[in-house]
Amino acid sequence: MTVEREIADNLQTVRGNTATAAARAGRAAASVTVVAVSKSQPDERIAAALTAGQLVFGENRVQEAQTHWLERRDVVPGLELHLVGPLQTNKVKDAVALFDVIQTVDRPKLAEHLARTFDALGVPRRCFVQINTGEEAQKAGVAPAEADDFIATCRKLELPIVGLMCIPPADAPVAPHFALLRRIAERNDIVSLSMGMSADYEAAAELGATHVRVGRGVFGERAPRA
Ligand SMILES: *Cc1c(COP(=O)(O)O)cnc(C)c1O
Repeated sequence: MTVEREIADNLQTVRGNTATAAARAGRAAASVTVVAVSKSQPDERIAAALTAGQLVFGENRVQEAQTHWLERRDVVPGLELHLVGPLQTNKVKDAVALFDVIQTVDRPKLAEHLARTFDALGVPRRCFVQINTGEEAQKAGVAPAEADDFIATCRKLELPIVGLMCIPPADAPVAPHFALLRRIAERNDIVSLSMGMSADYEAAAELGATHVRVGRGVFGERAPRA
């Protein structure tokens, strides 16, 4: 099977499964966007996804994302890039120049840097706040108990917070984490929910995700990081 065919088939499967899961909850297929996470993937696989009509992509490192997307950004109409990995303040300018959506706003200092950079560059960008729903020490994100205050802080800075994002603990049932994210969003009038990856995007779509972040399910296994 050619790479084009393989990726096109994978995308069709993921989109179909997402639509079916959303329908189980009475939600329209169009209410869930598949973000194809292209980190650590060879360029030909990314090209194949574009050929198959995929326009929304996620990356978790700014520098690697630049190699995949800087040149494509201006020549692919409708392309939408999401940063789904942690953002260091010294990379904010590069990130804002490249990504349409920053999903990982998680601390006041980063929020301040982003607000200043949006002002300076004058570009329309959207932000999600990452919530550490499992309160894991090694994971980024705002603790659930601090979420409301942090969202208020972001809004005071006039950051366009449109969504929340979470990565539940490995090997734990995901439903309570997705439900917690949804509750925090609802009480803060936030509409978008980025939750679910290759292993659990169907559960996420059924439980209210507006964005599922699927890497291996679209592209196949990743090459190990150098
Ligand atoms: C890598 C990554 C994904 C995709 O993971 P898969 O298991 O390959 O689907 C989703 N979200 C984040 C934040 C990631 O870093």
